[in-house]
Amino acid sequence: MLFDSHAHYNDERFNNDRDEILSSMSENNVGLILNSCSSLDEIDDIFAICKKYPFVYASVGIHPHEAENVTEKDMDSLIEYSKQPFVKAIGEIGLDYYYDFSPRETQQKWFARQVDIARELNMPVVIHDRDAHKDTMDILRTHNIKEIGGVFHCYAGSVEMAREILDWGMYIAFGGTLTFKKSVRPVEVAKYVPLDRIVIETDSPYLTPEPNRGKRNSSLYIHYVAEKLAEIKGLSVDEIEQATFENAKKCFNIGD
Ligand SMILES: [Zn+2]
Repeated sequence: MLFDSHAHYNDERFNNDRDEILSSMSENNVGLILNSCSSLDEIDDIFAICKKYPFVYASVGIHPHEAENVTEKDMDSLIEYSKQPFVKAIGEIGLDYYYDFSPRETQQKWFARQVDIARELNMPVVIHDRDAHKDTMDILRTHNIKEIGGVFHCYAGSVEMAREILDWGMYIAFGGTLTFKKSVRPVEVAKYVPLDRIVIETDSPYLTPEPNRGKRNSSLYIHYVAEKLAEIKGLSVDEIEQATFENAKKCFNIGD
């Protein structure tokens, strides 16, 4: 079975066939999914999905895009939401200097604050880092990420950066970008990262892997990521499947 460690089934692009898709997961070898959260406005929809489909877990957190409108009251809500049994991580949180939708200092402030909350709750984090490697790493380092761990979603950093992330006990997630034809760096990093620290994801409905690039993504395509990883690692798809499934369970503290 495959574990899709990052997807957004609350996205409106699933409005017409959400139930149909989620009902077909087990017959398509997808065993578990972690639905990521970008804004507290999404919470009701995400929790409804988790309640209906017990194989879907959730993270709760506020994406850097939304940072500008965050209040201290939102942090109280976040802590409250994290108490649901199907909530397994704080995220996705981080920095996005590619879009810069919120001022960088504001992004940094709420990112650091949410890392602190995760530490107080003793929950792992789901990190979003787009073109902000240095500041993301600085904040994680100074806010003692070592104590809680978590995962770098859709990892796009260097091998050197991966080394420090692994030192912190974190996991590194690969998704559709690993399969893209011009993708050199993720392949290099995937070679370097030991198999027991890799998880896979789709980021559905975004980042659709080859050969379906351009279509809407769903966890039904995650096997393409597993296959690409098997090719890179020189292992069987079965070995990749088993390892990444167990890794994601460990990362998010999900028991049997
Ligand atoms: Zn995401």
